[in-house]
Amino acid sequence: MLAPVPTTAAFAAQLDAEDPLAYLRAAFVDDQPDLIYLDGNSLGRLPQAAVGLAEDLVRRQWGGRLIRGWNEGWFAAPERVGAKIAQLIGADPDEVIVADSTSINLFKLAVGALRARPGHVLSDDLNFPSDVYVLQGVLDLLGADRRLELARSPDGMHGPVAALSERLTTGQFALLSLSHTTFKSGYTYDMAALSAAARDGGALTLWDLSHSVGAVPIDLHAAGADMAIGCCYKYLNGGPGAPAFLYVRRALQSQIANPIQGWMGQQNLFAFDLNYQAAPGMRQYLAGTPPVVALSLIEPGLDLLLEAGMDRLRTKSALQSSYLISLSDQILAPLGFTLKSPRNLAERGSHVALGHAQALGIDLALINELGVLPDFRTPDNLRLGIAPLYNSFTDLHQAVLRMARAVSEGHYRRYQDATPTVT
Ligand SMILES: *Cc1c(COP(=O)(O)O)cnc(C)c1O
Repeated sequence: MLAPVPTTAAFAAQLDAEDPLAYLRAAFVDDQPDLIYLDGNSLGRLPQAAVGLAEDLVRRQWGGRLIRGWNEGWFAAPERVGAKIAQLIGADPDEVIVADSTSINLFKLAVGALRARPGHVLSDDLNFPSDVYVLQGVLDLLGADRRLELARSPDGMHGPVAALSERLTTGQFALLSLSHTTFKSGYTYDMAALSAAARDGGALTLWDLSHSVGAVPIDLHAAGADMAIGCCYKYLNGGPGAPAFLYVRRALQSQIANPIQGWMGQQNLFAFDLNYQAAPGMRQYLAGTPPVVALSLIEPGLDLLLEAGMDRLRTKSALQSSYLISLSDQILAPLGFTLKSPRNLAERGSHVALGHAQALGIDLALINELGVLPDFRTPDNLRLGIAPLYNSFTDLHQAVLRMARAVSEGHYRRYQDATPTVT
């Protein structure tokens, strides 16, 4: 979409009429039709099917089946759900398992990687803070002779690809740990190119897929990625606090040990032997008992993503983010908004960040008065998450018009001194 798009509501409606995935919107709970939800990159919507499943899990399975439930699907749930995620990320079913949170999975795999290889850790300053904190903690634990180096983005938006590649050539790094799609600007790395650079420099790769899984096609095998982790409550629509997943390339599974040795990762757990021996394969990365209810509720969203297919989802998401950027260029730029996501589609995930000097006030006016839910990321980013499973082109058109009103009608002024807890 190179030429400016028409800014009319009729054009948005036409794009919706031509959208082969439009029917999937009805698969999600939406009882506030006037509310425009653009935060699916933070908390995905509730699939209709999850409502009935939650009732079944609690009333029939927990209430009726009681302890028998463990042999009727609960025990195998981490692998069953992992196998579905594997289809979205170009992995084999036995290379993905669901457990714990993304931060904890990062801890487990980073410690495992650093015990397997000498050397430092490389990341960038666009990475999600929790990931950086975890890596700092891992290095505190493993000794002062190792350090974390953060390559600096040239502009706070694009990944420092040249700086990362250059440092990898020194051969000093054991681990390259990056967000595939970065949380603020949505910049998306060329995973294959950087994984190759890491391999050539002797480093293992650990990709955080939290902002790309379910939004961007991922092929971990083709990219030669070693390890990955990711979040299930964003584009996967798994629900608030849903457990996360992890991937370890099959050939590496015998080399990366889980430092949290718990009974769920023990080879023969019901022998209750007092010596830990890791289970083979991905089960070794479990620690304690899986949160069965939350874990099971990830499945309905995965089924919808698999039905849509990542290629069709990316096609729609690309059209939508390009459409949104074109509307923003025409309608929002004159009101002081700037684009803080890459213009180059190949470098962009599925959310668009817009900068504005009054971004927090605009965000709060949209939430409190104008029926749009985006989010705010410090210091001046409004993030518009596009979830192609359920967002329409009309959503985007309407959101842009309401953002324009937030500024032109001065709504944002009411919130200039606000300090919300969650933004
Ligand atoms: C959302 C997100 C997380 C979430 O971590 P939790 O431990 O599951 O809370 C981690 N990393 C990135 C890059 C994220 O976007």
